[in-house]
Amino acid sequence: MLILPPMRSSHQCPKCGHGEVLFVPQIADRDDRDAVRPLALHVRHYDWKDDELGKLEAYVCRSCGYTELYTVHASALVPAKVPGARVLRRGE
Ligand SMILES: [Zn+2]
Repeated sequence: MLILPPMRSSHQCPKCGHGEVLFVPQIADRDDRDAVRPLALHVRHYDWKDDELGKLEAYVCRSCGYTELYTVHASALVPAKVPGARVLRRGE
């Protein structure tokens, strides 16, 4: 199996080979009231604030537009706090 390095470390597109990648540290999303929020895996709503779990960042090829999404601090996420989430391990 050929494994190409991710754009976030190679700064090169694995699809078209272009050597310019745009890093986007926060991706816009909209909530029920159309307010702009950062895109995240899950949001816990409290009366006084929203708590985003697993914010996403993107690496975008400047030629073909191929985009890699990454969850920030993925290893610190607690699966039980994300409804429906479960850890899948190789070989299971
Ligand atoms: Zn590309």
